[in-house]
Amino acid sequence: MITARKGDPVVCSKGHVNGCLQKDIAETDVIGPKDFGLNEAATTITSAGDGHLCSYAQCGERITKLHKGAYQIQTAHGWLGHLEP
Ligand SMILES: [Zn+2]
Repeated sequence: MITARKGDPVVCSKGHVNGCLQKDIAETDVIGPKDFGLNEAATTITSAGDGHLCSYAQCGERITKLHKGAYQIQTAHGWLGHLEP
């Protein structure tokens, strides 16, 4: 099982760093809003309010998905976090 470490970066698929993890997170953990931090200047909330996009250099790649209060986040380890269907 993939486990990312506290301090590992949140990155978009183009490699822009958008924030970092606030705790160790395994691939299937349920991720809450306090489990990671984002650089607000480099991110945008989606128009539907269901996650965040990278806004670094107007990138637009998705970096989080929000569903029923839980997040998936894009990291150097790939997407982490379990979402209820
Ligand atoms: Zn980006």
